[in-house]
Amino acid sequence: MKVDSVEILPVSGFTSHLAKINQLDRIGFERFVFFPGMTCFSFESWWGKNTARKTSHEGLDICFFTNTRKEQFRLDETTRIPILYEGRIVHEMEDFLGRTLVVRHVVGGAGDMTFLSFYAHIIPDRQLRTGDVVKEGEVLGIIADAAKTNSALISHLHISLAWECMLPPVSGLTWNVLNRVARSVFIDPLTVLSGSHVILENAPDHRASIDFIKFSEA
Ligand SMILES: [Zn+2]
Repeated sequence: MKVDSVEILPVSGFTSHLAKINQLDRIGFERFVFFPGMTCFSFESWWGKNTARKTSHEGLDICFFTNTRKEQFRLDETTRIPILYEGRIVHEMEDFLGRTLVVRHVVGGAGDMTFLSFYAHIIPDRQLRTGDVVKEGEVLGIIADAAKTNSALISHLHISLAWECMLPPVSGLTWNVLNRVARSVFIDPLTVLSGSHVILENAPDHRASIDFIKFSEA
């Protein structure tokens, strides 16, 4: 089935939910900051020696933000993660930093068109089960602590969005499968997030990220 390219997803209040449930307003949250390699479909990496990715990034890495005083912060392993849209948890899988929850959503007014949202590198809330119905803004879990792995990455949330009809059955999905599917399956999450952001196209390199302090220690 071919997805009409004019099909667009509704805007999600994810950013304001994230700010609210993590009390980011107390430090004046203003906007997300992305290094090259964190954005969807990028072939760059934002860790290690900036080597290229083998396949383009199938989603968005969310970690850094600035406040109204232009101070630099990052999300960390205390960060609670809200769901983008109302939906149903349909799958859970492992990833290299933690676990991934997959939630199915229906596009309003378009029959049975469904898309999936993926929340990777997290520790899911222990109450949640596959089959549970969830509301926009509801907490899925927290970001996994990357320091507990051998990864060169720092703790962050990876979000992917994909049309379900263009994927193999959801129960068999793994990140290995998702790495190999056509990139036209995916939707850039930045197209649905409310609020502003900045992409540091000319960032010197990923090491600039060490200047961002954990928001929970602010
Ligand atoms: Zn990612």
